[in-house]
Amino acid sequence: MIHALGFDLDGTLFDHRGAAARGASVFLSALGVTVTDAAIDAWFAAEAVYFEQWRSGRIGFAEQRRARLRELLPGLGVDLPHDDAALDALFERYLAAYRSAWKTFPGVRDLLDDLRRQGYRLGLLTNGSTAQQTQKLEALGLTDFFDVICISEQIGHHKPDPRAFAELVESLDVSGAECLFVGDDPVSDAAGARAAGLAALLIPSDADVVATLTRALAYPGPHCPAASRPIA
Ligand SMILES: [Mg+2]
Repeated sequence: MIHALGFDLDGTLFDHRGAAARGASVFLSALGVTVTDAAIDAWFAAEAVYFEQWRSGRIGFAEQRRARLRELLPGLGVDLPHDDAALDALFERYLAAYRSAWKTFPGVRDLLDDLRRQGYRLGLLTNGSTAQQTQKLEALGLTDFFDVICISEQIGHHKPDPRAFAELVESLDVSGAECLFVGDDPVSDAAGARAAGLAALLIPSDADVVATLTRALAYPGPHCPAASRPIA
């Protein structure tokens, strides 16, 4: 019996790709770059490479940001600042544009509200920096939906490390078998959760969390009066 639901944040509840694409577009335009699909793809490629280097402990969080700018900007015709402080200030300009584009996927707050009403305990497990993910949850109005919030920098383990999922279910006071983890990454979320003994639901890239989870839980959907039964 599932008593608790664990959620990934970026790409699952929060439209990271939409916000980052908008942020990168505003940021690069302000630097004089003609923003093309290729430039945005390069932005995401650098993000993937260096965020993973941070996640696996090879570089620090600020350094992964600097490395992204160092890799990307010269090829787009932008001169790089020479010192870290100036690179950090430059990245802040991206972050301001990224933050102003933050939004959840449609229906997410209604979904979480309904799941709480149905009696599920709700947890969040996200890879990222404590400061940024906390700020994001607050800005999105998501913080109060969760009984437990685990941010990988804070707990010291990143998904797919089973210890990250163990921390989540322990904090939720359920067993792994009683928790369904919902996320968009086949490795960090789905495989990681299953390896740690949780049930897992992968949100396909062409689907959304509300429709996918509603179907998986076999209930009529957010704010439907007939919605009542947790899954067995
Ligand atoms: Mg994700």
